[in-house]
Amino acid sequence: WAVTRGMEKGYFARREFSFTLRDDIYVRYQSFERPQDLEKELQKACPYKVDIGAVYSHRPSQHNTLRSGAFQAQEKELVFDVDMTDYDDVRGCCSSAEICSKCWTLMTIAIRILDRALVEDLGVQHRLWVYSGRRGVHCWVCDDTVRKWSSSLRSSIVDYLSLVKGGADTVKKVHLSDPVHPFISKSLRLVEEYFEQYALLGQDILGCRESWDKVLALVPEHILLPGSSCLSLRLGEGLAAVGKSRVRRWGGQEQEIMLQFCFPRLDGNVSKGLNHLLKSPFSVHPKTGRISVPIDIQRLEQFDPFAVPTISSLCRELDEANDEDKDKENEEDPESRRRVRDYKRTSLAPYVRVFECFVEDMERARRGELLRRSDLQGDF
Ligand SMILES: [Zn+2]
Repeated sequence: WAVTRGMEKGYFARREFSFTLRDDIYVRYQSFERPQDLEKELQKACPYKVDIGAVYSHRPSQHNTLRSGAFQAQEKELVFDVDMTDYDDVRGCCSSAEICSKCWTLMTIAIRILDRALVEDLGVQHRLWVYSGRRGVHCWVCDDTVRKWSSSLRSSIVDYLSLVKGGADTVKKVHLSDPVHPFISKSLRLVEEYFEQYALLGQDILGCRESWDKVLALVPEHILLPGSSCLSLRLGEGLAAVGKSRVRRWGGQEQEIMLQFCFPRLDGNVSKGLNHLLKSPFSVHPKTGRISVPIDIQRLEQFDPFAVPTISSLCRELDEANDEDKDKENEEDPESRRRVRDYKRTSLAPYVRVFECFVEDMERARRGELLRRSDLQGDF
């Protein structure tokens, strides 16, 4: 709720929420006068999932009463969605909805590349990275100015951040320009930090004939070793010989290969539209039961999707905490009976702390901005 302090009047009431209720009943255009009203409705309706939408010109709950065209999305966080299923052609360990600690490295790389670009190239400040609860991550960019960005600006940003092009039928999906754009060369430096450990050792992409054929398919014929009757095979042997060390042999080609294997693959449609809804942080994923928790990007390498609390682990922890309370009721000291907020007694607490830090940063920035504006007015 702290986020709404000092905000434009009526802003919260114009925000769309949508609920997924029992039996997949999907209710859009819900809106609430105050955060407390949303809280009450959540307790009453017990939605299976909550999605957050745009801030509209009018209250979403009244959108039916307006003449057509009057109801417009005005503001929305810029959001990004990276989903592991989009990497199926370049991960050997898992497919579709599965993930493991090996391929999770792809999400770590995606976050580092995108987050660096957001801050250094696009100048944004407030990013909240969230684990989706299953096989991907979301990013919410919440700066005041960014929330006002148009759809076409958002599309341009998605284009800027996209490099891997083409669907299942496209073999070679990365083609670098010469000279390489600084965004790409900086991203490549990040990929290089992981490539050997992740791709050469972890995924063992040169480990068998089938997987090196996939790599070889990305190398143009003319740079393969000359004088061989079976070029692909020769290069393959060469690669296997250099084996688990860095691939250095072919000029710029290996850069395109590294990027095809590791560069972030965005679901652009989620980012482009202002009225696209995205699952709220702290939702429970319906398939895994895992909570969609914020990721502390200062400790990104330590984030483990398999250690994230699930709805059943949280219920168990709360039951245990309640049992402890009952034991304490028999004690003399009333201090020991003082209750702390329930979530703080569960393994969700550190993730809530990440969220609180994010909100506190936004509040601090807003206070600074208000102060700066009032100082400016004082000068005139
Ligand atoms: Zn995997």
